[in-house]
Amino acid sequence: MPDSRFSQMFAQALCPCGLSRAAGLVLALHVGLMPSTTLGQESSALADQAGAASSPTSNWTAIIDGKETPAPAISMGDEATVLRLLELGTTDNRVMDHLRHLSFEIGPRLTGSTRLEQAETWIQSLYTQWGLSNVRCEPWGEIATRFDRGPSSGRALLRRETKQDDGTIKVEFEPLRDFTISALSWSAGTGGPRQGPLFKEPITEEEFAAVKDKLRGAWILLKAPAPIGQRGIRGMLSDRFKMRELAREKVAKGEDAMSLSIPERLAFMGIAGYVSTSSDERVWTGAAPDWRTRTVDQIPDEAHALIRRSDYDYVNSRLFDSEPFEVMFDLQHTLVAGPIATCNVIAEIRGSEKPDEVVIVSGHLDSWDGPGSQGTTDNGTGTAVTIEAARLLIAANAKPLRTIRFIHWTGEEQGLLGSKAYVDKLKEAGQLDSISVMFNDDGGTNSQGGLAAADQMVEFLAAATAPITGRFLDTKDNKPLNVNVRAVGPRQKPGAGSDHASFVAAGVPAFFWDEVGRADYGYGWHTQHDRFDLAIEEYLKQSATNSAIAAYRLASAPALLPRSEPEPPAEPSADAKPEGQPATPAATTTPPPTTPPSGS
Ligand SMILES: [Zn+2]
Repeated sequence: MPDSRFSQMFAQALCPCGLSRAAGLVLALHVGLMPSTTLGQESSALADQAGAASSPTSNWTAIIDGKETPAPAISMGDEATVLRLLELGTTDNRVMDHLRHLSFEIGPRLTGSTRLEQAETWIQSLYTQWGLSNVRCEPWGEIATRFDRGPSSGRALLRRETKQDDGTIKVEFEPLRDFTISALSWSAGTGGPRQGPLFKEPITEEEFAAVKDKLRGAWILLKAPAPIGQRGIRGMLSDRFKMRELAREKVAKGEDAMSLSIPERLAFMGIAGYVSTSSDERVWTGAAPDWRTRTVDQIPDEAHALIRRSDYDYVNSRLFDSEPFEVMFDLQHTLVAGPIATCNVIAEIRGSEKPDEVVIVSGHLDSWDGPGSQGTTDNGTGTAVTIEAARLLIAANAKPLRTIRFIHWTGEEQGLLGSKAYVDKLKEAGQLDSISVMFNDDGGTNSQGGLAAADQMVEFLAAATAPITGRFLDTKDNKPLNVNVRAVGPRQKPGAGSDHASFVAAGVPAFFWDEVGRADYGYGWHTQHDRFDLAIEEYLKQSATNSAIAAYRLASAPALLPRSEPEPPAEPSADAKPEGQPATPAATTTPPPTTPPSGS
């Protein structure tokens, strides 16, 4: 509930957006934002006018290519419904409640994990309780092994030796430093705390000979990589995992382990595990290779911890100084034999006249699950926004002509798996043409600041999002949180990196909201920092309200959102890629839309 200071700023914020101050006040009064006690005589007159107005006005201002313009005159449902959505969205917005529950009560939600299933059940129960239709978790596949990450920790310990009166040596350990760590999902844990000395990975035969008799039970510190961003770091972990696996295969076929390369040989020395570092203070989490098909007994019993760069520098300099210390890692990984079924959570507000035509509001529910992460901004935020959009529409008693379908994708982080399977299913059923538009909120905690649209879509999208103009404020810089519809030419840009890409590839208009605001997405992205304290309430309230209004208006428009022109035929070159296609498969991660970590 905004206080009166906010209301003043709110009224100011209306002015730069094309609405007159008076009109802004009328609108603010109408939705109950401005306490009448703060208004003077002039304002009371306005209040009377507002009260006298029998029907709401629609002098909404759209933003197209950064310019304010009267909202295109396209009939999009009942304006009273939109005003109710604005009122509820500003005065009774519960997006933070949903996000708090996801972050604290459930936590990070790896695909196939127990916590993800808890989240799926919880969302379905909300939707059922609120009276949405066709609430279900629609299966899209299965995975071989469930991975549930328990508490994980790592530390350096000082080794103290004291000579006792009887001449024996007493060894004691004193904690030196707790590490910030992660480890690949679907990899083996340590089965309890595993402590031992730390050795740098030997590179030369001389180095290997010097340590080979001390390696049993020791941790191996791998050389720090060049700063190559999270994909490179995760790739390095995966490559190592693969290399050791191949080495075990070679030995199983009769090769002598000691004839292999030194890194391969280490897999046979009875070591405690491997330690490597990220390129900075973030530790990123990804999947072990072949995670989807690997059964529990195919997951090698080897631990590999990733520590942040300052922890690496700390142990590295102690090794250099030959200080007596050991390291301990406790990676509580629970691996459960599958197959584990996976599903997307789906619910609907059925259309009153064209129930088979559909507007999709969505975001992925799954997240990476590294220690510390609550899966908040990737993508608890998009999840909470989707849930609240549904709640607002129900609370406002919205009756769209078309169906509004809410979808919480899973398997996104492992390659848009849930959305791809869903699009395949629509294709098989011949239903792609009945999807008017798909919205995807997966850019973190910033506000829904815009859409990159094919030219023929611009008018519809501008009309759909115009009611939000001037209604929410960034209280840090006093700027309104508007939606800027950007025309990008006759064709929609190919999507990449998140679930909208599955739809764009099938020719369905699908959008990743431009995320505008002060949040630094890359800080939390797939790291230990992805926690509730990153969430920015005012942006998320705008996002939930905007999602609800845009969906309602497009679902009530005279036609489906105009399609983009089809892609031109591909060049007859063997390695031709469609325009804008990422060089690496989009499948593995959600890229940060605003501030990508270096090199990824
Ligand atoms: Zn994401």
